[in-house]
Formats: sequence, C-alpha cells, structure tokens
Amino acid sequence: MLKKEFKRKDVNRARNLIMGKTGASTGTQVGYNKKEANHKEGDVWKEGRKTWTIKNGIKQTLSKLDKLKKEVFTPLCCPKCGKVMKRQLDKPNYKVHKKCHDCVIEFEHKLKIKGTYNKYIKALKTKNNLEYLREIESYLLDVANSSNLGYVSEDGVIERWVGGVNKKKMSKEITQAAKQARKKIND
Ligand SMILES: [Zn+2]
Repeated sequence: MLKKEFKRKDVNRARNLIMGKTGASTGTQVGYNKKEANHKEGDVWKEGRKTWTIKNGIKQTLSKLDKLKKEVFTPLCCPKCGKVMKRQLDKPNYKVHKKCHDCVIEFEHKLKIKGTYNKYIKALKTKNNLEYLREIESYLLDVANSSNLGYVSEDGVIERWVGGVNKKKMSKEITQAAKQARKKIND
C-alpha cells in the first residue's frame, strides 16, 4: 500500500508517465478506442460485476476493502468461552479457528482422544488451501477485467497492459486453471 504521505499529485504524475503522457490530467484517454470514464478520488462506480473506488489515487474494489476490514477485526472476547483474547496466540488462532488459543487446545485434545486429530488437520489444510486458491483466482480475475490503460495497483505496483488483453479468454483460462487446482486439492 502507498503511504498517506505519498501525495495525490505524485500518483497522478506517475500515472501520466506510465501512460506516456506528460503534463496531462489524470484519466485522459490515450490511444484506445474503448470509452473510459474519468474517475477521481472518492468516486464509487460499477464496472463489470464489481463496485470500484479510488482511494489515495489507487483504483480498487470496494468488496476487497470490506473484506480487509473484516479480516483485521478480532473481537475482544472468544465467542466460545467468553474470555478476553489478549494473549499473543489468541489472534492467529482466532483468524483460523474463530476461537481463542485455549479453546483450540481443548478442542484438539478431545480430537486426539477420539483418534480423529490427523483427519481434522488434513481437512483444515484442505480448507486453507482452497481459501488461498479462491483469493488468487479472485485477484487474477480482477486484474484480467481491469482497465487496459495501466494504473497503480493496490500493492502500489505500476501495472500496464501492452496492447489490449482478451478479457473473456483470460478470465476463462483463470477459471479453468483454478478449477483444476481445486480438484487436485480435494483429491
Ligand atoms: Zn475460548
């Protein structure tokens, strides 16, 4: 992410530079036939099936921002036992198991007694892999369906497409690859 100190005009300058334009205003169309709407900081608009916005000069999806907020948020108390989650191991455990470290230990201990611990760990790994895959797929589809003009991405990386991409074909290939990977994980 770009730091706050990074001023909007600097982002604009970088953007104009990568679009091969010097002294042009941001959002100006260059060289493509496709109609591109001009958006400015704080605008919210629909493009494809997603809602987009520009924050700190960076084009990003609203859903991604919402998801990020939810992930960062850890409740004060464990939803299982009600104890305050203030220890170091509580946060990472909550992220994966949605309960505090003690509750996870207790749960896993019970599974060990029942003899189903290994099965549970395997299922957990599969779940994590599938989640990771879904994130990658969603990111790649985002990229494939984004503007061809080139822009500063959410990571602050300057991206530029050379020529145009066949969005439909690219999306299909991404979905296909994800489907294969999903099958491999599930097997
Ligand atoms: Zn707990």
